[in-house]
Amino acid sequence: MAAPAPQQARLSTTCHCKAVRLTFPPLREPANECLCSVCRRYGALWAYYTPDEVQIEGAATEAYVWGKKTLSFNRCKTCGCMTHYTIVGDTEPRVAVNCRMLERDEYERLESEQSDGD
Ligand SMILES: [Zn+2]
Repeated sequence: MAAPAPQQARLSTTCHCKAVRLTFPPLREPANECLCSVCRRYGALWAYYTPDEVQIEGAATEAYVWGKKTLSFNRCKTCGCMTHYTIVGDTEPRVAVNCRMLERDEYERLESEQSDGD
């Protein structure tokens, strides 16, 4: 696998209290405002990556896993911000970063689109 271009700046986000930090590559496609039953309630705006592309540091998160138990929604234990979700089980591994955690200037530059999700 080719190494990422060193000049390409990675994005960095934190939850509100800064206990959880995520670092990941620039978005390759518009961020996804998923309208499924859970993402809609979280107000999440997702960017999707493979697990090796996303660095998750800081405090341990709490998970919400329900239904078919294929997704783990992870939030900061202190401030409650939904920082990312991960795929649980043996389907294609993926980490979705919640772009609502970006600082405002970066957030305002994002392109986004809605998807049905259900
Ligand atoms: Zn926090």
